[in-house]
Amino acid sequence: MVATKPNLIPIAKPLLAQEEIAAITRALNSGWVSQGPEVAAFEQEFAAYVGSNYACAVSSCTTALHLALLAVGLQPGDEVVTVSHSFIATANAIRYCQALPIFVDIDPQTFNVNPQHLEAAISPRTRAILAVHQLGMPCDLKAILAIAQAHGLPVVEDAACAIGSQIHINEHWQNIGCPHGDIACFSFHPRKVITTGDGGMLTTNNPEYDRQFRLWRQHGMSVPDTVRHAAPQVIFESYSELGFNYRMTDIQAAIGRVQLQRLPDIIRSRRALGYRYHTLLSDIPGLGLPTEPQWARTNWQSYAVKLPIGLEQKSVMQALLDRGISSRRGVMCIHREPAYPLGTWSCMQRAACQCPPHSCEMLQESREAQDRCIILPLYPEMTDKEQMQVVDTLKQVIHEQECSHGS
Ligand SMILES: *Cc1c(COP(=O)(O)O)cnc(C)c1O
Repeated sequence: MVATKPNLIPIAKPLLAQEEIAAITRALNSGWVSQGPEVAAFEQEFAAYVGSNYACAVSSCTTALHLALLAVGLQPGDEVVTVSHSFIATANAIRYCQALPIFVDIDPQTFNVNPQHLEAAISPRTRAILAVHQLGMPCDLKAILAIAQAHGLPVVEDAACAIGSQIHINEHWQNIGCPHGDIACFSFHPRKVITTGDGGMLTTNNPEYDRQFRLWRQHGMSVPDTVRHAAPQVIFESYSELGFNYRMTDIQAAIGRVQLQRLPDIIRSRRALGYRYHTLLSDIPGLGLPTEPQWARTNWQSYAVKLPIGLEQKSVMQALLDRGISSRRGVMCIHREPAYPLGTWSCMQRAACQCPPHSCEMLQESREAQDRCIILPLYPEMTDKEQMQVVDTLKQVIHEQECSHGS
């Protein structure tokens, strides 16, 4: 993250204050800075918040996704059904396992997977469904789980953006990460809702998965360093399987524990800002606003609007920036990136697909969302005045650019 420029309304701004600094000091003074008691406490508190039996902290959501996919048994050559319309790490994690992402299109209202396309994408080689809660908006887990169950497939949730988002399921409002699928993966990157600088978390109710995560994140080491350090006898550890260094540090976890305490307030203000955007922007003709399904409560990790047809995304964003307002383009389409040449992915049509690389016609809603959406500033400390400035400037810019196009 770049420090905020003066007079610029930033796209996001992590809420970090004196309490986080005190927590870092506590960790440093403890004499133990790598994965240790602060990580263990953060995990417990995180599990209690989301309502899962287990939570395992790792270095990022990307590494969390990698371990989750390994845990459900992904093998080289397997297929994982997911979306192209996501941050690239979603599909990268599949490729780390030498498996093939099968991309399905999204629902343009929620930017999430359209469950109607799932069936067609499932083949005998499908090993898992990787469901993304894009921009914090819960995806249609009920529909996804029904299809997964019918095919005997595990569901991994990419909940990178979705801490504090809720879904109405089994007659209750439940937090994302309270296991609905098999495993949920969270991110603590500064663009997300709470941050530890970098960091991730895996939640599950499956004790075997949790045991594997703990082994793999620490090189596959049979006896953790914390245990050996505290033991009165000499203990030799062993390494029975291939592991990784995917640990979170105690310094990060100490920050995370404070952030978790702030979370209810953060969610409250993000939701208030999200609703206010909806109200203030609803009179702009042709502007598409994100909608919350009845069974979902988003944390508004990002607020993306779809520009009226005919406007050029980049020039709208430049005009906003010239007037002191930062924005970002809509979520990327992974399959359009050079790192994803044909052969490294397939669309829901799989082998039958005749589309040229990077312009898959089957993923039309995904491409349109990338090309026409812009993400507006939203952060817990945003004032009503700042939000009004964003709204007024956007209205002005849209009006000017529509006129200059001679409509
Ligand atoms: C941010 C993000 C990730 C990656 O998270 P990191 O913690 O930066 O590794 C993965 N998936 C989605 C949907 C994201 O938004």
